[in-house]
Amino acid sequence: MIRHHPSDSTLIAHSMGALPLLHSRVLAAHLNQCQSCQSALRAMEEIGGAMLASLPQADLQADALARTLERLAGENDVVTPAEPDTLASLAVGRWHWIAPGIRLMPVADRDMTGTRLDLVRVSPGTALPTHDHGGLETTCVLQGSFNDGQEIFQLYDVAESTPGLTHTPTATAGPDCICLTATTARLRPEGRVARLVLGWFGL
Ligand SMILES: [Zn+2]
Repeated sequence: MIRHHPSDSTLIAHSMGALPLLHSRVLAAHLNQCQSCQSALRAMEEIGGAMLASLPQADLQADALARTLERLAGENDVVTPAEPDTLASLAVGRWHWIAPGIRLMPVADRDMTGTRLDLVRVSPGTALPTHDHGGLETTCVLQGSFNDGQEIFQLYDVAESTPGLTHTPTATAGPDCICLTATTARLRPEGRVARLVLGWFGL
């Protein structure tokens, strides 16, 4: 059963298209499986639509469409998949060994918002290097589960981390824990070993 959902503010940003695309892909993997967030999102979109409909009409400038298309073209070259990501659709690359019990499969390089997308695979009982965050980190569990020191995150649960939150996520017993993780800006590792391990992959 899904216990951890994205925060309301993250869901609102996602519904408005204001979230960096790679974070939205992590949310889409959760939303695809979560009835409760799907209902919340529909309600948000209806409210947003009603607010737009109540605004007074304004005349558009003649070149508005051309300028918008031009801006969108330069904004992002990351492709949004038509279907939400799943473990089967994502795990088609190569797992890179980064430390005992920890492997990484890059899914998308850093985009213009400084966000990258990775699959992180951790063996049961293994902890990720302790780290703080330079920006938003969103994670959706696609297999197994992990303990972030406070709570257990299981299949399709979402974890959000922001600067100031230091954690040492540890995979719990069972199959390898595989998470889809979007990170904006570099992580802030604690200690030399963590700096070495995370720095090597530009995390
Ligand atoms: Zn949800």
